[in-house]
Amino acid sequence: DRLLGAEADGEEQAIEAALRPKDLGEFVGQERVREQLDLVLRAARQRGATADHVLLSGAPGLGKTTLSMIIAAEMGAPIRITSGPAIQHAGDLAAILSSLTEGEVLFLDEIHRMSRPAEEMLYMAMEDFRVDVIVGKGPGATAIPLELPPFTLVGATTRAGLLPPPLRDRFGFTGHMEFYGAPELERVIHRSARLLDVEIDAEGAIEIAGRSRGTPRIANRLLRRVRDYAQVKADGVITQEIASRALAVYDVDGRGLDRLDRAVLTALLKLFGGGPVGLSTLAVAVGEERETVEEVAEPFLVREGLLARTPRGRVGTPAAWAHLGLTPPQGTGS
Ligand code: ATP
Repeated sequence: DRLLGAEADGEEQAIEAALRPKDLGEFVGQERVREQLDLVLRAARQRGATADHVLLSGAPGLGKTTLSMIIAAEMGAPIRITSGPAIQHAGDLAAILSSLTEGEVLFLDEIHRMSRPAEEMLYMAMEDFRVDVIVGKGPGATAIPLELPPFTLVGATTRAGLLPPPLRDRFGFTGHMEFYGAPELERVIHRSARLLDVEIDAEGAIEIAGRSRGTPRIANRLLRRVRDYAQVKADGVITQEIASRALAVYDVDGRGLDRLDRAVLTALLKLFGGGPVGLSTLAVAVGEERETVEEVAEPFLVREGLLARTPRGRVGTPAAWAHLGLTPPQGTGS
């Protein structure tokens, strides 16, 4: 598991639970989604109704699970959490749906990875609060209709575009979660430091925020690593200098690149003059699998404007040369 990976690892989940904001007021950033959701939930509460189904799209670690729990809390409803890959058969979904209580929130993470039959069952459940349970096989199979209590589905996906339109259309509200800016990440870090009982000054938080790749999960993780360093190597207080020294130990540079990211960029610039170079060639040069370079390192490098994927191959941008402190060769156009 990478220190800068946006996915949660197993043991991280317990720690994260303690750091989750409990209501919309505590949830940092995402102003638009927060404001829109606040309206949706308030209106439903005033009508004494179950809230509309909500779709949340955005990269891992931006707070989709947290928001779904907040939706349940704001509605005073219980929440059930499951994920697309866990629902392979329509029967799995029928079992969950039929055990929901009135007003319950069902959080379905990675909803785009649900099986087709389950997805079709979900259409009807979302629209009519009803499912047809098929009993038996072949010509003798019969559909037994089953009424469901009204519930709120909160679906999460990395990209709303991955969802089939009929499913997308059944959500009353879609919130697009953006990467967080530095000031918001600083607020996340100060808040988590308070909860973890760690002392941190403004510059210390700025230092960690700048390396957190726009992602609260990563900010919280870096904070915990810097806390360890501050405790073992200093007096426990996180300052800019302590944060910077700690993150150097963990190979996280000033822009949030790790060893692999820098290896890819360095090879691209130093060995291939900034490209264009093919992905396979680049992967061999850094001693990694093609997939690792493409799926682990490149997305963030592209997002940061350090690397471009072109039809002729990978190209290092002027920002990449500047970041590594190298001078581009004359006449390459890069
Ligand atoms: P995944 O898609 O991987 O499940 P996610 O988008 O559901 O990720 P969460 O699990 O909700 O992300 O959030 C990850 C961590 O980041 C949690 O510990 C949560 O406390 C923190 N976090 C996320 N968003 C915010 C926020 N807006 N304010 C404060 N903390 C946040």
